[in-house]
Amino acid sequence: MTVTSKGEESGAVLEVEDLSVEFPTDDGIVRAVRGVGYRLEPRESLGIVGESGSGKSVTALAVMGLLPGSARVRGSVRFEGTELLGLSDARLSDLRGSGIAMIFQDPMTSLNPVYTVGYQITETLVRHQPGLKARAARARAAELLGIVGIPSPERRVDSYPHEMSGGMRQRVVIAIAMANDPDVIIADEPTTALDVTVQAQILDALQTARAETGAALVLITHDLGVVAGHTDRVAVMYAGRIVETGSVEDIFYTPRMPYTLGLLGSLPRLDREEERLTPITGSPPSLLNLPPGCPFAPRCPMRREPCDASEPAPRRTGSDTHLSACHFADELVDTGAGEVFDAVGADAAALARFADTVNAPEEDSV
Ligand code: ADP
Ligand code: MG
Repeated sequence: MTVTSKGEESGAVLEVEDLSVEFPTDDGIVRAVRGVGYRLEPRESLGIVGESGSGKSVTALAVMGLLPGSARVRGSVRFEGTELLGLSDARLSDLRGSGIAMIFQDPMTSLNPVYTVGYQITETLVRHQPGLKARAARARAAELLGIVGIPSPERRVDSYPHEMSGGMRQRVVIAIAMANDPDVIIADEPTTALDVTVQAQILDALQTARAETGAALVLITHDLGVVAGHTDRVAVMYAGRIVETGSVEDIFYTPRMPYTLGLLGSLPRLDREEERLTPITGSPPSLLNLPPGCPFAPRCPMRREPCDASEPAPRRTGSDTHLSACHFADELVDTGAGEVFDAVGADAAALARFADTVNAPEEDSV
């Protein structure tokens, strides 16, 4: 599915088209990503949301050329017009250094424990500006640490990663991403390991990095709440596919895929903080032997005959840029304008029906 329907004309920085990834295993072929597509305009931000195992990380790793050799990758990934699939390791690693930066859940994936954070930032700076003098590089490193919210940055340049908290390390990773001056930042669950207060600060630091570098952002998370204030558009993934995509407003106010409604249902309510709305129960299907039909059907309160027969193609619902892969997308009534969380509340009837059905014994789930 392509997120925008702008046709061929392309100022896009990143275009992913019909991307599929399969892993041959002893038990069979794991179809981790099945025909994912999106395009990212300069400076735009896209949230990719879905439960664990829905193919979010594999999609990101495929874009970055970081999948293990056993992975079978098909489709197209174009960065500023250049096809990345099939590119040599050397060219890809150049690109990772400059064009596209990736931020992982665990900052230690990107940091080297034996060098100070200052050294790691200046190394990146000098790679981009070979003439840069040591003192200027150090000053810029401290400045970058300050920009991402690290206190006493002039002192902190001499710290080693293990001398910092998880949140501070993640800020360092963001500072390094900025030093690369990327056109695209892909952040894969950058805040998942952190507590809620620190999460918000890291998301802010990410926005700062975006503003300073002019990079477009792909923010991957299992938590719809994280994308609410931080991305322009949202793509919801389920069982290796994008099942709904639209603007943040489309997704929060007028979700047209029962799975999205379920994700919204598991958001905490602001008015009754102690209470959570109905979460989705059951688990996602195995990607080893997907039955025909909609992979969400076994957990879906709206399941009917066509759902088991064929997997719905994503199609336009509501606005031009709002797509849903549900046979019955148009039966999901608009929740209307209002506060995001009110909107969820306004759809209480649908959620209650959802809860009744989904919480029933799951004899027919996979
Ligand atoms: P998410 O990031 O959405 O939690 P992933 O993209 O990590 O999910 O994984 C998608 C699916 O691909 C999962 O079922 C996972 O087990 C499978 N997978 C990921 N990497 C491999 C691999 N190297 N070999 C086999 N299966 C894999
Ligand atoms: Mg992941």
